[in-house]
Amino acid sequence: MPRNQHQVSRKHISDNALKVLSRLRGAGYDAYLVGGCVRDLLIGQIPKDFDVSTNAHPEQVKEVFKNCRLIGRRFRLAHIHFGREVIEVATFRAPHSQEGESLQHEDGRILRDNVYGNEEDDAWRRDFTVNALYYDISDFSVRDHVGAMVDIKSRTLRMIGDPSERYKEDPVRMLRAIRFAAKLDFSIEPATQAPIKELGAMLKDIPSSRLFDELLKLFHGASAVKTFQLLREYDLLRYLFPLSDQYFKENAQSSAEQLVMASLTNTDDRIKSGKPVTPAFLFAAMLWGPMLEELKAKSHKVPQHQAIQLAADTLLTTQLQYTSIPRRFSVMMREIWQLQSRFETRWGKRPWRLLEHPRFRAAYDFLVLRADAGEVEPELADWWTEFQERDEEQQKKMLKKSDAPKKRSRKPRSITTKTIEV
Ligand code: ATP
Ligand code: MG
Repeated sequence: MPRNQHQVSRKHISDNALKVLSRLRGAGYDAYLVGGCVRDLLIGQIPKDFDVSTNAHPEQVKEVFKNCRLIGRRFRLAHIHFGREVIEVATFRAPHSQEGESLQHEDGRILRDNVYGNEEDDAWRRDFTVNALYYDISDFSVRDHVGAMVDIKSRTLRMIGDPSERYKEDPVRMLRAIRFAAKLDFSIEPATQAPIKELGAMLKDIPSSRLFDELLKLFHGASAVKTFQLLREYDLLRYLFPLSDQYFKENAQSSAEQLVMASLTNTDDRIKSGKPVTPAFLFAAMLWGPMLEELKAKSHKVPQHQAIQLAADTLLTTQLQYTSIPRRFSVMMREIWQLQSRFETRWGKRPWRLLEHPRFRAAYDFLVLRADAGEVEPELADWWTEFQERDEEQQKKMLKKSDAPKKRSRKPRSITTKTIEV
């Protein structure tokens, strides 16, 4: 498709990606922009990263660029580093075979995919048609081998080849279907939708680290609310958050689900306005329903602090079997949870101590979401909002002296919650 028949806006193409393309071409190789960036340029979105596809083998790419690192075993790739920007360069892949550099599990999963081929082979082994377009900077044409332009125009997500086989090769494609449908606001073509419910359970065999990476893409792409709704519709949440799945019902009635919705809305808003987000917050919210349930069972036996610790141990042990959570995030989740009970104490010196806690901000944001979800009295969240804004004299007047226990009580306190509907 020549340049006058499409609307790729070149001003959104990264200079570094252009450099990589011209260097590879200068060294005598074919090289195109490919995948998500071409798709995004065609529908008028700004690509978040740039991928290049070439007939140069990874080692040959490495010879052309000093700033190149080869990564991946399952799928070998070259990363070209320009400061913080990385241009991903993949060699054209051919369909896999049972021998040599490709390996397929008996359930259909492709375990290794390093058989090289030509450009057209490469297009056919990609996941969705709209992800298989190539942009040629030498004449500004778009190259389409799989009928993708029709799907771009009708905003349709269509699996290349037989959807069921393609999901079996790589079950993560089910999550990718949901992610692109939500992010691009595309509809999933019926045959591409059909096998998802039946094959969802194959996600159980995906390494937990890959599912963690995919979760971040699902929920930190500014369409978390829509993504969550689609995951629920296709019954895939149970393979990502098995402990919480029982709270996620169509009618979004449970306060556990309302908290998740509030937190996803908040995440989308933060990302759209360029504010940082942390996976710890997402996981803390996703597991809060089961956390309250665990606490109900444990709180009367041990002090609050310990009950939260024990409940967190139990929940994380299960969750980690599904999605890994790097330690720095699980530590932060625990802190967010622990601090919830300390918001109850609004007398003495403790409110000031809490303000100084390094996780105060995240824990306070979490408290506000709990209040929005109707799980804690809005008055409590409002009190903390006001307390932060006042000077010390005014803060002293705000203290709830009458709440302070008359005598030191040994009885463990529990988080005040309204009943949670399961
Ligand atoms: P994003 O905008 O999220 O980066 P993307 O389409 O660029 O979307 P990537 O995960 O960056 O997605 O992958 C780049 C390209 O590689 C895809 O467009 C697709 O062509 C191909 N691809 C990635 N993952 C798979 C997969 N699991 N199966 C088949 N093709 C894939
Ligand atoms: Mg990409």
